[in-house]
Amino acid sequence: MTTNTEFQAWRVEERDGEYVGGTQTLNTADLPEGEVLIRVSHSSLNYKDALSASGNKGVTRKFPHTPGIDAAGEVVESSTGTPAVGQPVIVTGYDLGMNTDGGFGEYIRVPSAWCVPMPTGWNARTAMIYGTAGLTAGLCVQKLLTMGAKPDQGKVAVTGASGAVGSVAVELLSKLGFDVVAISGKASHADELKALGASEVVGRDVLAADKKPLLKPGFANAVDTVGGDPLAELLKQIQPSGSVSCCGLVAGPGLQTTVLPFILRGVNLLGVDSVEIPLEAKEGVWKKFASDWVCSKTEAAAKDIGRDDLDSALKAFLKGESSGKIVLDHS
Ligand code: NDP
Repeated sequence: MTTNTEFQAWRVEERDGEYVGGTQTLNTADLPEGEVLIRVSHSSLNYKDALSASGNKGVTRKFPHTPGIDAAGEVVESSTGTPAVGQPVIVTGYDLGMNTDGGFGEYIRVPSAWCVPMPTGWNARTAMIYGTAGLTAGLCVQKLLTMGAKPDQGKVAVTGASGAVGSVAVELLSKLGFDVVAISGKASHADELKALGASEVVGRDVLAADKKPLLKPGFANAVDTVGGDPLAELLKQIQPSGSVSCCGLVAGPGLQTTVLPFILRGVNLLGVDSVEIPLEAKEGVWKKFASDWVCSKTEAAAKDIGRDDLDSALKAFLKGESSGKIVLDHS
C-alpha cells in the first residue's frame, strides 16, 4: 500500500522574501489529488525549473512548492487502470512542477492524461536525458521539416546552442544531414558543439543589433531558443522562404522587428510549445528519439546529479552558464 508513504522532495520555501530550496520529508497524502501515483526515479533540469525555484510567480504562484516539470518513473497507484500499475511512464509539461508538485520529489500524483508510456528500449534515465528540453528541440526540428526544410537549402542556425534545448537541436539537425551553425556565447564549448555535429560555432555577435531591416541571408532555416533581440536579428538573416522555430525567451520575451523579412522574403516564424500540446504529439516525438532520432552523443554527455546539487545547478541556468543535459537521479 503506497498511501501515506513518506518520501524525499527538494522543496522551495519563501523565507523573508528569499526563495530557498532543500530536501524535505513529505508524505504521499500531501500530494495533490489525481488519478495516478508515480514513483519518480529521475527528473531533468530545465530553465523553467530555475524560474520556479527562484520564486518566479509567472511559473509558480504558491510556495512551498516542489519544482520539476519533468518526471519519469513507475506507476504505483492508478484509479483509471490506464496507465496500469507497474507501467513505466514519462510525464512532462502541463502543470507539472509549476503549480502541481513536480519531479524533484520521489513521488508525483497527476491525471492519467498526462502520462506517456515509456517507449520501447528506454528507461527513466534515458527519457530524462531528453526531458522537456529534448522534446522541445524535437518539436522545433519537426516543425522545420513540416515546412519543407531540407539540408540542400543551406545552413541551419541554432541559438543558445550550448543550452539544454539548443544542444539537442544541434545533434538532431546534424544527424538529419543539415549543415548546422551553432550560435553560442560560450567560446569554451566550441569543441563540444562540434562534437555534437555543428560544422561551425560562432559567437552571439553574429546577431548583434543592426539598424538595417534586412541583412545578407546567411541561413536557410533556424532553431531559436533565446527570443528577444537576437531573434529579431536572426529573422533578418534568413533566406527567402526559410523558417525559424522559436521556443524560448532567455534573451527576453519582447520581439522588436519589422514585417520586411515576412513580406519581402516570405520567412516563416514558427511558434513551438511543448507543454500544453496533445499527449499524442509528445508521444510521437519520444518514439522518434527512441528510434530514428536517437541522439547518442547527447545521451553519452548527459550529467547526473543528486538533490544536493540542485541549488547550484538551477542557479547556473539563471546566469546563462548551464550547458548540455542534466539528469536528476533520486537514488
Ligand atoms: P538553457 O539555459 O539550458 O539554455 C539557454 C542558452 O541560451 C544558454 O545556455 C546560452 O547558450 C544562451 N543564453 C543564455 N542567456 C542568453 C542571453 N541573454 N542572450 C542570448 N543567449 C543567451 O535553457 P533551455 O535550453 O532549457 O531553454 C531555452 C529556452 O527555451 C528557455 O527560454 C526556456 O524557457 C525555453 N523553453 C521553452 C519550451 C517551450 O515549450 N516553448 C520548452 C523548454 C524550454 P550559449 O551560451 O550557447 O549562447
